[in-house]
Amino acid sequence: MSADPNTRGLIAANWKMHLLRADAERFCQALLAGLPAAGPRVVVFPSFPLIPTVAGALAGSPVGQPVGVGGQDLHPEDKGAHTGDVSGAQLADAGCTWALCGHSERRRDHGEGDELVGSKAAAAVRHGLAPMICVGETRDERRAGRTFEVLERQIRAALAPLAALPAEGRFALAYEPVWAIGTGETATPEIAQEAHRHLRGLLAEIRGEEEAAGLSILYGGSVTADNAAGLSAQPDIDGFLVGGASLDPEKFLSIIRGSF
Ligand code: PEP
Repeated sequence: MSADPNTRGLIAANWKMHLLRADAERFCQALLAGLPAAGPRVVVFPSFPLIPTVAGALAGSPVGQPVGVGGQDLHPEDKGAHTGDVSGAQLADAGCTWALCGHSERRRDHGEGDELVGSKAAAAVRHGLAPMICVGETRDERRAGRTFEVLERQIRAALAPLAALPAEGRFALAYEPVWAIGTGETATPEIAQEAHRHLRGLLAEIRGEEEAAGLSILYGGSVTADNAAGLSAQPDIDGFLVGGASLDPEKFLSIIRGSF
């Protein structure tokens, strides 16, 4: 399938370093059986060894649009001596149409900086993958009143290498406040909307008003079936990037059915 991140209603599962092949197969069967015929578009980001299993199991989704598959990371270069890394070409070859770039756990665990995230987004685009670029402030940065400044620095660095990407080019943003990831502490709809509106304004400055209006900005940070409806009612929240609650197909399906 070709990824189309540029519309409202996009829900992504980030499995992080969880699940084994048998779990992934069961998840995909349950997901396909439970997906509504019309609803948000869905993408699954499994860890690398699970990608062929997931891509195979989700191929030919019987309802609605095909479910997309993405890599949780990629190397900025196309090939070479980079032991343990994965290239955009390899992700595409394995059946991916998306690549997650700059997740805060990559920034934290691997010291990924803003410029590297931009290089990864550019590598994704070179291989026909839609980058889902993650940005978000830490709790200390929010307390210090630096949220907007941090978001601006992250988004400008990540999008700079995509300057030549045509307006119909494909990418999505995920606003993921670090203090809300895996903590059970979700941003309120108002706090999330404020950040998303700010990001939309920055996108308009960088990419132009028209493109900014059509780009998907996903919220991520302890999304569950209980808070999804309130968040999805916000005008600038176009989708979700879901971690913990995406590991159980029924919980993930409840989010899909109850939002957008
Ligand atoms: C994530 O990993 O991107 C995430 C948002 O995790 P969680 O939903 O568990 O907070």
